[in-house]
Amino acid sequence: MKTTAELAIVGGGIMGLSIAYHLAKKKHTDVVVLESSYVASGASGRNGGGVRAQWSSARNVRLMQESIALCRNFARELKVNIWLRQGGYLFLARNQADLVRLEKNAALQNQLGLKTRLLSTSEANQVVPELRLDAYAGAAYNPDDGIVFPWSFLWGYAARASELGVEFRTHEPVLSIERGDGYLLRTTKGTLRAKRIVNAAGAWSPRIARMVGLELPNHPVRHEIFSSEPLKPFLQPMVSVIGTGLYFSQSMRGEIVSGITVPGHASCTVEDSMKSSLAFLEHVGPALVSLCPRFADVKVLRAWAGPYDETEDGNPIVGAPEAMPDFFLCCGFSGHGFMMAPVIGKRYAELLTGGGRDELFDKWPLERFARGQLDREDFSIG
Ligand SMILES: Cc1cc2nc3c(=O)[nH]c(=O)nc-3n(C[C@H](O)[C@H](O)[C@H](O)COP(=O)(O)OP(=O)(O)OC[C@H]3O[C@@H](n4cnc5c(N)ncnc54)[C@H](O)[C@@H]3O)c2cc1C
Repeated sequence: MKTTAELAIVGGGIMGLSIAYHLAKKKHTDVVVLESSYVASGASGRNGGGVRAQWSSARNVRLMQESIALCRNFARELKVNIWLRQGGYLFLARNQADLVRLEKNAALQNQLGLKTRLLSTSEANQVVPELRLDAYAGAAYNPDDGIVFPWSFLWGYAARASELGVEFRTHEPVLSIERGDGYLLRTTKGTLRAKRIVNAAGAWSPRIARMVGLELPNHPVRHEIFSSEPLKPFLQPMVSVIGTGLYFSQSMRGEIVSGITVPGHASCTVEDSMKSSLAFLEHVGPALVSLCPRFADVKVLRAWAGPYDETEDGNPIVGAPEAMPDFFLCCGFSGHGFMMAPVIGKRYAELLTGGGRDELFDKWPLERFARGQLDREDFSIG
């Protein structure tokens, strides 16, 4: 085990792993990843695998176009199949106001080269005939969005980064951090001296930041999800309802994987954010059956929960604070960190190896919250 490293990454979720891999690819391997539990024990091992470029801001559309291209190349580059299935994302609007949002987004997305189409409810029924859409106003559909199998994505980054020389230390929580000549990280198994730190601890990142006297504005919100018994494959796209946060897709094994925003499930501790609740099943069941009546007899096999690491404007916090230029932040990814990890890891590796200034680090710094310069993304949903 190393006692010194140029860079310590705190957190072995998808962000820490993607940064570690992209650094190693650039031959920057004097890196230790410290993970308090097993790799991807946080939000990354609990997510639905949705990958979409349908966003409301040009920055996020472009980022996700790049991220989806990286996903498409993942198997070729990392020799691991992430089972990317581009069956599209079908967003459903329940009323005229939501339809106007979809129209506005689709116009922007088309300008940027996406194939997003606005659909009437009968056209949406051609994409998914099983939906009951009488109470809906319309839909937006981008056929190039899709779903990945989250676990192979995580294993791919971890395995290749480790082969290239990054040290992974799991079941080793960081307990405290002292600032001086670089940083001294104390863990349950010893100490590590590092010149620089990336705080990629997701919903735990405010706790890590507090160890160096820094307050972060992101906070955990519990998000629950379930998977059903397997059904014969029938569903291509991820279906998502604007406003309620209901979404569902079908896994390669045929399971329906579905989540929803539960009213009243607001901020909580990160520990509570990982507890499943009966209230979720009571909420998601009727919503799902009313949209897709054929689910009425389908049995739920498993349900779980995890933290959405939320910020006020729906965008993440990246880069180093002005007062602490060697302490980098990579957190606040809400319900979309998985899909953004390829591009964020790549851009971060460029920043950490002295590459040119990237606009992301100017647009999403910590200081924007104190300055009131928020960069709102209003399509930051499951
Ligand atoms: C139910 C659910 C469904 C989701 N669905 C999607 C989706 O379809 N598409 C999508 O793009 N995103 C989705 N997300 C969001 C996505 O999973 C997250 O944005 C992403 O995984 C965040 O990754 P992360 O690496 O920042 O955080 P995490 O994966 O939470 O990783 C942080 C890690 O830090 C570790 N840690 C904490 N404290 C310490 C310490 N003291 N020392 C060392 N390590 C520590 C934790 O153990 C954890 O492993 C979903 C999230 C949830 C909960």
